[in-house]
Amino acid sequence: MADELQQFREEIFDINEQLLDLLTQRGKVAKKIGDVKRKQGITVYDPKREKEMLNALIDKNEGPFSDSVIKQLFKEIFKASTDLQKADNEKHLYVSRKLKPEDTVVHFENGGAIGDGNKSFVFGPCSVESQEQVDAVAEDLASKGEKFIRGGAFKPRTSPYDFQGLGEEGLKILKNTKDKYNLNIVSEIVNPADFEMADQYVDVFQIGARNMHNFELLKEAGRTNKPILLKRGLSATIEEFIKAAEYIASEGNQNIILCERGIRTYENATRNTLDISSVPILKQGTHLPVMVDVTHSTGRKDIMLPTAKAALAVGADGVMAEVHPDPSVALSDSGQQMDLNEFNHFYDELKPLIDKYNNGEL
Ligand code: PEP
Ligand code: MN
Repeated sequence: MADELQQFREEIFDINEQLLDLLTQRGKVAKKIGDVKRKQGITVYDPKREKEMLNALIDKNEGPFSDSVIKQLFKEIFKASTDLQKADNEKHLYVSRKLKPEDTVVHFENGGAIGDGNKSFVFGPCSVESQEQVDAVAEDLASKGEKFIRGGAFKPRTSPYDFQGLGEEGLKILKNTKDKYNLNIVSEIVNPADFEMADQYVDVFQIGARNMHNFELLKEAGRTNKPILLKRGLSATIEEFIKAAEYIASEGNQNIILCERGIRTYENATRNTLDISSVPILKQGTHLPVMVDVTHSTGRKDIMLPTAKAALAVGADGVMAEVHPDPSVALSDSGQQMDLNEFNHFYDELKPLIDKYNNGEL
């Protein structure tokens, strides 16, 4: 009996080796097919052909494995073969660190960079309301040596009756500010047709949370050659966020800054829930700079400082927050924007920390 068992085991061992040999042969032929397909510009995965092959195998199947088991096993083999056929640049996303291990650094003509190992700040009002309003914040930022200012001219609002932004007029205001204070302008675009017009005014095109799934907007952003600040969707998973960035990158623009701005959960103590763990996950998985927006994620001025510190500690490349000269009369997000006094306190607390990070002391 023991001999018989030993014999069967040896037989199985042999069959395993034969299967391995056949799989290796199959893999080699699949790779050749992949090369031919690429030369002819044909896509690697062909569902019709896969179905034909499965049907032929099921017709021939005499058991003991059921048709569904055979189907399952061969589907795995087919998938492994199609993966083999893909070239390296098809296997990994453009934004993936596997494809590009080194960090992407976004540089600006006005000076300043995001993702170069130093921590950056992007502050400014929620919406552009007037030249005086933007300049008041810009003057403060410039006096601190900051390099960026944000402000929305196109505002995607929950209600159509709320202030929708000044449009191109708002972008002109931002451009005047840029010329006066030498700051890089970050401003949101909501319509794919507006990139061309906005190009003359803006240094970073922002794509807001509500538009993270707007694939036509993402594609058009990918066809521009300006940096894109992409915010995480209100209820987007990290994977969906990365794939949204891939939409931009796949069109040729890899100057992308990711921005975690909180996601919707059942928690209502904060406006959104700041998913702090997304920062190291995004830094590991992609080569893109990652910022954290402490205003929209928390909606609470009283915890902006500790959340900003947490963002830096967890590896964020920078922090975004909203600042308005007189938030009580702001046309959007009136409750969550810091006034200049609050901002100065916030900045005075955060700046020494930033300097330590930037000097390599932390
Ligand atoms: C903004 O930054 O102006 C904004 C509208 O934020 P979000 O898209 O993250 O809601
Ligand atoms: Mn806002």
